[in-house]
Amino acid sequence: MDESKKMTSLIMIFGATGDLAKRKLFPSLYRLFDKGRLSDQFAVVGVARRPLSNEEFQNSVKDSVVSSLGKDEKIDEFASHFYYHSHDVTNSSSYQTLKSLANDLDEHYGLQGNRMFYLAMAPEFFGTIALHLKSDGLTEVKGYKRLVIEKPFGHDLPSAKKLNEQIRTAFSEEEIYRIDHYLGKEMVRNIEVIRFANAIFEPLWNNRYIANIQITSSETLGVEERGRYYENSGALRDMVQNHMLQMVALLAMEPPISLKTEDVRSEKVRVFRSIRNIQGEEVNNYFVRGQYGEGVVENEKLPAYRDEPMVDKESNTETFVAAKIMIDNFRWAGVPFYIRTGKRMATKTTKIVVQFKDIPMNLYYQRELNPNLLVVHIQPEEGITLHLNAKKAGVHLDAYEEKLSFANTGVNAMNTPEGYEKLLYDCMRGDATNFTHWDEVAYSWNFVDKISAAWTQSKADYPNYESGSMGPKAADELLKKDGFSWWHVDELDVIDLCK
Ligand code: NAD
Repeated sequence: MDESKKMTSLIMIFGATGDLAKRKLFPSLYRLFDKGRLSDQFAVVGVARRPLSNEEFQNSVKDSVVSSLGKDEKIDEFASHFYYHSHDVTNSSSYQTLKSLANDLDEHYGLQGNRMFYLAMAPEFFGTIALHLKSDGLTEVKGYKRLVIEKPFGHDLPSAKKLNEQIRTAFSEEEIYRIDHYLGKEMVRNIEVIRFANAIFEPLWNNRYIANIQITSSETLGVEERGRYYENSGALRDMVQNHMLQMVALLAMEPPISLKTEDVRSEKVRVFRSIRNIQGEEVNNYFVRGQYGEGVVENEKLPAYRDEPMVDKESNTETFVAAKIMIDNFRWAGVPFYIRTGKRMATKTTKIVVQFKDIPMNLYYQRELNPNLLVVHIQPEEGITLHLNAKKAGVHLDAYEEKLSFANTGVNAMNTPEGYEKLLYDCMRGDATNFTHWDEVAYSWNFVDKISAAWTQSKADYPNYESGSMGPKAADELLKKDGFSWWHVDELDVIDLCK
């Protein structure tokens, strides 16, 4: 491997005994190590409250790698780069010990003063940690210092602003890497390539040829044991403010003048600025909220959201959102971007369906023509399907729907470690393109806050969809009044030609 592509850094993970570190971060770092993308000059300091020796920590790192990847080549060598520091992040005194450990490792491994601080902890600690990193001198380094911050970035615009001000006292905007793990997904990254590297799409990518765009991100699982967190969040804050709007921005943005971070981000920001703001009673014309009731899925009777652990029996929290998003600019005027996301739905999938307008006249009147669709399969399958009309061999001159498919093989899990692997590598390389800029966060909260404000004015009639369904009826009506309907995402599977 080209030596310049090998990364040298001290990676400090706050929350190193947590779920995210174990399931995503350690396996992703191992993959980078295994592929030769980490040089021998790297060290990881795990920070968490629980007392652990370095050896115990290294064993937990090895366990998490082996259980998630089923691989253990050079695992001892990999784990030997991991160190543990037991530390309550609210306790000011122990940052000094952390600083000496970081300086020692810097010298021992020749880390060139490069530091990545990864906050894999509850968001209420983000501000405190950032302030301490600066005041206790951990950010005084010869190399780069970068802060990686997990979602949620605030709870609304005022709290996001406050958090941003806190972290900006220690890090500049260029040094802050706000994770949206959807931006690490292979097919989300592919949206730009499909659009900007194909002569057949970009000329059609506008309101003259596109009827509507539908983005579905559905889960079959309910809230599981995350009831306490989810009660304060709901689908709007948990999924729409970040992942769904990020996909809208990538689909709607103008071609950037280059793929440089600032050029891509500024085009995305222009999309956020063009999204029609909805408020007050108008919200009902554009947004549908839902909460799952009980239902039977695969012969198992499942409880309603309100009967889940740590959930209020009268909860007004939405577990489903569908929306019509309008982008008021020249390219998109009049084209609805429909989004829907929810828990306990019939199928687990993330898909984008671009529906092209009908051709002016159907010569094949014996059959109703299907509109052309471009389907981007994001997860669990990854690929693209183009729905065309063509003649079947030997049959009359009639038009039948045919699909051209391309499938990425092998990746078959929600939120796979590969996404985190790419994002960690991007951060070490200093490429912030696939992280969210503050302006994107601020615009999206501003949009979403108006919806939450309208929803808190009234109590919804919940539950309004059965577990195992595709959401409330009102979500279908949202499209019906525009003359459209949701494509059945479970019938749009990508055809894997490699299998
Ligand atoms: P978790 O509860 O499993 O882990 C929290 C970690 O923080 C533990 O290591 C704990 O020891 C540590 N911690 C808590 N209080 C501390 C204190 N005062 N001082 C020092 N350490 C302390 O949480 P998680 O699921 O790993 O999530 C971490 C962050 O990542 C959250 O912001 C979450 O929203 C985000 N996130 C998680 C996932 C996921 O798959 N788990 C996915 C996306 C985003």
